[in-house]
Amino acid sequence: MYTAPLKDIQFVLNHVADINKVTAAINRQDDITPDLVDAVLTEAGKLAADVIAPTNHTGDQTGSRHHEDGRVTTPAGFAEAYQAMAEGGWTAMDAAEEYGGQNMPMVVSSMVNEIWQSANMAFALCHLLTQGQVYALQKSASEEQKNLYLPPMLEGRWTGTMNLTEPQAGTDLAAIKTKAVKTESDALGTHYRISGQKIYITYGEHDMAENIIHLVLARTPDAPEGVKGISVFIVPKFLVNADGSLGERNDVHCVSIEKKLGIKGSPTAVLSYGDNEGAVGYLVGEENRGLEIMFGMMNHARFSVGLQGLAVSERALQQAIGYAMDRKQGTPLGGQSGDAIINHPDVLRIITTMKAEIEAMRALAAVGGAAMDLAHGGAEADRAFWDERAALLVPIIKGWLTERSLAVTSLGVQVHGGMGFIEETGAAQHYRDARILPIYEGTTAIQANDLVFRKTLRDEGKAVFTFLDEIDAEMITLAGNDHPVVASAAMAVTDALADARLAINHILSSANDPRRSAVSGSNYVMLMGYLAGGWLMARSAAKAAEQLEADGADENFLNAKLVTADSYMGHALPQVMALARSILAGDDAVLAMRPDWLQG
Ligand SMILES: Cc1cc2nc3c(=O)[nH]c(=O)nc-3n(C[C@H](O)[C@H](O)[C@H](O)COP(=O)(O)OP(=O)(O)OC[C@H]3O[C@@H](n4cnc5c(N)ncnc54)[C@H](O)[C@@H]3O)c2cc1C
Repeated sequence: MYTAPLKDIQFVLNHVADINKVTAAINRQDDITPDLVDAVLTEAGKLAADVIAPTNHTGDQTGSRHHEDGRVTTPAGFAEAYQAMAEGGWTAMDAAEEYGGQNMPMVVSSMVNEIWQSANMAFALCHLLTQGQVYALQKSASEEQKNLYLPPMLEGRWTGTMNLTEPQAGTDLAAIKTKAVKTESDALGTHYRISGQKIYITYGEHDMAENIIHLVLARTPDAPEGVKGISVFIVPKFLVNADGSLGERNDVHCVSIEKKLGIKGSPTAVLSYGDNEGAVGYLVGEENRGLEIMFGMMNHARFSVGLQGLAVSERALQQAIGYAMDRKQGTPLGGQSGDAIINHPDVLRIITTMKAEIEAMRALAAVGGAAMDLAHGGAEADRAFWDERAALLVPIIKGWLTERSLAVTSLGVQVHGGMGFIEETGAAQHYRDARILPIYEGTTAIQANDLVFRKTLRDEGKAVFTFLDEIDAEMITLAGNDHPVVASAAMAVTDALADARLAINHILSSANDPRRSAVSGSNYVMLMGYLAGGWLMARSAAKAAEQLEADGADENFLNAKLVTADSYMGHALPQVMALARSILAGDDAVLAMRPDWLQG
């Protein structure tokens, strides 16, 4: 069972991410009204709970299946659920209106995407990848390509994939070998013939849509070596006629799908291109600019995977709360015989810390979405600032939310005791599903490299220190708050800021020795995540305290908010200090190790 956390989402949107300010800044206050946002979230919550969430556990048990004739069938209910999303217009939510999209701001669509991903992450991945491709095509494809491919994807009739990975080219896309040879222009117009093998292609083949549009990275014959010689192509499963109708089957085939640790409902395909005459592909943008085009959508895709971390954590929390309210075992200290395990102080600790981190994750995701909205649609003079802020936040959101989802879903298993280890309850599934998140769309190490080298060393810490200064100023105000939880939260964050500054200065001081900077990267991502979470939980506590004063306040909800903020400061925020210590002390200990010593 899953219930969309609408109250918390609304609280975060209205009081932490300040959606009204965002919609005003992007001139959308007339169409993105509070009533509309409320209706969107409520309807998404219903579809997620009634149609999508029931496919989660069964989908994990059956998985997708590859057939001898190359077809792939998804678990029972997946195709119907996708159809329902399409009929509700959800597949068009965040695309441009001119192609049939609804142009929903990211701050809202991120919260809706959280809901889909909580309901069934393996299923919702198809939508995530399609959104990613839509975003890339909107930004970089020709007008004809956009008009031909975007509307059916937004209507949910076709889906999209991202084809980067090859056996020898994972993190290092410079090693891509898939070939693209330009043919003479014929009845199909100018096109290329694509040949090669792509692996790990999510929803590379399936039965949920009429057509699949692959976005494929490949090299033309005389392309320069390395990343400067990669181009990107649209390769439809069924060729598309000029009027949008489907033509012949293209020369791309699913060889097999992977057996995996988690997200088993989603097919992860090995795709073979050009077994016969070569798959027909259409160049997007210019030759050799493929990686640039993919990088153009990277913030979007990485942010979406960060949201998956939040989503799977929320699902694990709901399941853990349900179990802990029901299961009886022993007499909790200070309680009575027959009290449920939620009354054991340690179980309460686990669940409260899970909830606190999830609220911090959600707040950070919403603030990240708002930054992207402001970067794209805010006042011209402010766009560069918000672009820089979004670029800073994305590796933190991707890295921190996904890494913490491993711990949060593991705590969910712990609450279930032995039943957590038994597949029947579904708690183990969330833990297994979460494991992919710090791996795909750039491993945590890649987020760390991004944060250290591009977002910190390149501007000598300017963007990150500006961010820290803003947090500092807000905490100075909150430290004077009448509510003791708010004031002490602000002081805790101020202390953490001092630790963060020491750690960042240490990273900056090793700028001339990139190996040293890189050693600190993953800890730096996590430190920034915990710190940003603390910042927003302090803000959240202040808003909750303020609202408690109002007549008719939702006291249970608001008091719980104050408790989660307090819990965050006591149990999560101290990680900033620990990580800063590791950063300050850790380089020598790592770099002194020689790989040849490791095998004895
Ligand atoms: C279920 C699943 C779905 C996927 N879906 C897709 C998809 O739809 N489309 C697609 O194109 N790909 C997809 N992928 C591929 C995924 O993006 C890659 O697996 C990922 O980028 C890592 O590449 P790799 O597996 O080759 O690992 P490697 O690159 O071999 O990395 C192995 C280890 O080395 C580390 N490492 C490598 N390079 C560096 C570096 N420069 N600095 C520091 N550490 C480094 C990594 O962090 C990692 O810990 C999927 C993968 C899986 C498992």
